[in-house]
Amino acid sequence: MNVAKVVEEQVFQGQGVSPGIAFAYLRAVEDETWERPSLYRISEQEVASEQRRFKKAIERTITELEQVTEELADFSGQEESAIFEVHKLLLEDTKLINQVITGIEDRQQNAEYVFYAVVHNYTEAFKKTNDKFLQDKAADMVDIGTRVLKNFTPDKSPHEHLDEEGDDIILVAYDLTPSQAILIQNYPIKAFVAEQGSGTSHAAILAKTFDIPFVVGIDNVQTHFTSLSFAIVDGDSGKVIVNPTQETIATYKALQKNKDKARAKLQKIKDKKSQTKDGVELVLSANIEFEEDIEHVLNSGAQGVGLLRSEFFLLQNQRVIPNEEKQLSFYAGLAEQLTPETITIRTLDAGGDKLPAVANLKSEANPFLGWRGIRVSLDHQDLFKQQVKAILRTSLTGRVKMMFPLISHWEQLMDCKQIVEQCKQELKNEGIELPYEVPIGMMVEVPSAVMMIEEMANEVDFFSIGSNDLIQYTTAVDRGNSKVAHLYQSAHPAILRMIDKTVKAGIQSGIPTSMCGEMAGNLNLLPLVLGLGVDELSVSPNTILKVKAAIASLDMQDCKNLVKQALTMHDGTSIYEMSNKMATASYPKWLLV
Ligand code: PEP
Ligand code: MG
Repeated sequence: MNVAKVVEEQVFQGQGVSPGIAFAYLRAVEDETWERPSLYRISEQEVASEQRRFKKAIERTITELEQVTEELADFSGQEESAIFEVHKLLLEDTKLINQVITGIEDRQQNAEYVFYAVVHNYTEAFKKTNDKFLQDKAADMVDIGTRVLKNFTPDKSPHEHLDEEGDDIILVAYDLTPSQAILIQNYPIKAFVAEQGSGTSHAAILAKTFDIPFVVGIDNVQTHFTSLSFAIVDGDSGKVIVNPTQETIATYKALQKNKDKARAKLQKIKDKKSQTKDGVELVLSANIEFEEDIEHVLNSGAQGVGLLRSEFFLLQNQRVIPNEEKQLSFYAGLAEQLTPETITIRTLDAGGDKLPAVANLKSEANPFLGWRGIRVSLDHQDLFKQQVKAILRTSLTGRVKMMFPLISHWEQLMDCKQIVEQCKQELKNEGIELPYEVPIGMMVEVPSAVMMIEEMANEVDFFSIGSNDLIQYTTAVDRGNSKVAHLYQSAHPAILRMIDKTVKAGIQSGIPTSMCGEMAGNLNLLPLVLGLGVDELSVSPNTILKVKAAIASLDMQDCKNLVKQALTMHDGTSIYEMSNKMATASYPKWLLV
């Protein structure tokens, strides 16, 4: 008798880092890795063409390595580029080349496979020695081996397994990178699931911008999940339900209906001011990454853009950073659409878990403590000046502000200001008169800057608190590592005290403080954020209306009292619970679905 196999519903509990519900098919993202290619036999007549294919792949790789070496030498100096010089030399090793050429003929096997086998033999032998130099060389060989394999089929997209026109999918990855997250622009992706990651990882920030659910922290996702299984992703509760029953599907459809109703309610407050129950007004602006986001901003009733993460535009084409004119046209285009509101443009913040400033840059041991943010710009002042000039010239079209990421040292701020002055002078010499003084601000996201905040307040026109990084650097918790996510506490007393210190320094010097990290859009923490006295909240466009509704139901005086008490407390968990309690007691029920 033929018994049909019953596929059971399986529920996986992770952490929801971007809300929403999606119904779609699981699909693993394929990484480019050093894996054994398929083996097939070739005929005697095919030997020559197979050898030619191999030589072509080597040629392509050498050209690619020359290009990378040149770019790196321009961008980050000789040391990094030397790595790729060595890779090129390894490929030019005639012994290795000849072994592959003769191997194809002797074994009558396909070129990729023979190449893989030859390199594999070398790397295994190197790894077994006690010689550190040879062990390192093994890693280098794997790296170039991967490159060569990719160059056998240079036109094959690494995402060929995804179908632009196919069924809706849930992208599953070990650790979703921002470049994988932006695949959503070309593929019918409805949710993300990953083993690694957290609410402030940049992939999560993108998921929120795209308004799709994202669940992280599910162990062994790629082995547990069978590709193409149907699943529900619940980004609010952090559940992924694989092979859901009809009953579960019906429950989630009903939940989604309620969410849609809440959305419709929110639309009604779009044109209302953002103010507390007792009439205190706040600026509520949006965080954006892409040009397409501007439409969401305009539809959300946001008061301008409080954070443009310019790196997503600057690094989208990894080979060339757009020049001053191209940047100007991008920034001015956004500023024009936002008029009369302001756009706050943050200068390049590459590195960390975002795209590196240079394609193919060797990974750093501690990327969040490495070559990121303003450090990259100050090492490449030619590129930095192009960006500063483009931002300054945006003032000819609309209202613009400029701010610098990851300021940790006084000298950095001084250097940035000096460069801005130089740029203004050079523009003047070119006959370009700027219509007003573009406000210059800094991100407050490193504890060393907070400890110097009173002095820094005298040097800038505004502060913007980057809580994502401020929490990471203050508590020494990698913002993208789910293993330590429980220690990543926004309501940690040290964080509240740092924000308090920053706001007070701002008031003392007569400058406003905004907050653009994810903490600003977290409704459970809103009573604390309001009570701390920030002047502006910048959140993802899809969160604007929820935050506006939440603000309207809170009383500023209560929030201030709450903060007064929180500042005397020692544990973040209790502070969080206190804030959450006030939030749930104040918000309308429909906002909590
Ligand atoms: C932050 O650190 O809070 C911030 C807004 O910057 P990013 O998330 O881009 O590092
Ligand atoms: Mg930051």
